[in-house]
Amino acid sequence: MSIADNIKSLKNETAGKKVSLIAVSKTKPVEDIKQAYDAGQRLFGENMVQELLEKHEHLPADIQWHLIGHLQSNKVKYIAPFIGMIQSVDSLKLLQEINKHAAKHKRVIDCLLQIYIADEETKYGLGFDEAIELLRNEEVSELNNIRIRGLMGIATNTDNEKQIKDEYYELKTFFDGIKQSFFRKDAAFDTLSMGMSSDYKVAIEQGSTMVRLGSTIFGQRVIKHWKNN
Ligand SMILES: *Cc1c(COP(=O)(O)O)cnc(C)c1O
Repeated sequence: MSIADNIKSLKNETAGKKVSLIAVSKTKPVEDIKQAYDAGQRLFGENMVQELLEKHEHLPADIQWHLIGHLQSNKVKYIAPFIGMIQSVDSLKLLQEINKHAAKHKRVIDCLLQIYIADEETKYGLGFDEAIELLRNEEVSELNNIRIRGLMGIATNTDNEKQIKDEYYELKTFFDGIKQSFFRKDAAFDTLSMGMSSDYKVAIEQGSTMVRLGSTIFGQRVIKHWKNN
């Protein structure tokens, strides 16, 4: 199936479910992204700042770009002028840095706190306790140029569906608790980004409101560097 067909069938599959679809285009060339764009897709996710900057430059301005990979504080300034959402916030320091650069551009940048749920050592993110500690910090409420829209999590890369289901269930439960405790009066705290190509159906069953799909849309990623594709 073509990229356009994949987008259409995913749109049908998620129709009426209040789940938004991020097309994860990392390592894929600009031409592939254009095909998805022409099929109506507007939300795209990238995990590397440099790659994101170059693609942003070559593609239509009405694309909403989501950063889904680890972000170093010293790179925030490059994406602050245009980024739609930063899904990988994993420290107060990073949140402060995003706030600072968003203010320079008179913007409010939407952010998700990335929560560590996987049974793996390699994944970035805040533990449940660390996320609560961050939200309790009074400085957070003084950051007027960021808006915490919700949480993001990556499940363990495993064939064990029960484990994935349990991890997403825990994240959804945590999300509901955080909403109750810290965002009860804030309707903008509405996003639970969980689910990738291998596990998005389980994630949606468990209450995901945003799935991040790469290979399901664009095919397998074989080459690491997008310009040599
Ligand atoms: C690469 C990536 C995805 C998409 O992965 P697929 O398995 O290709 O769907 C989703 N989320 C994050 C954080 C990623 O880095």
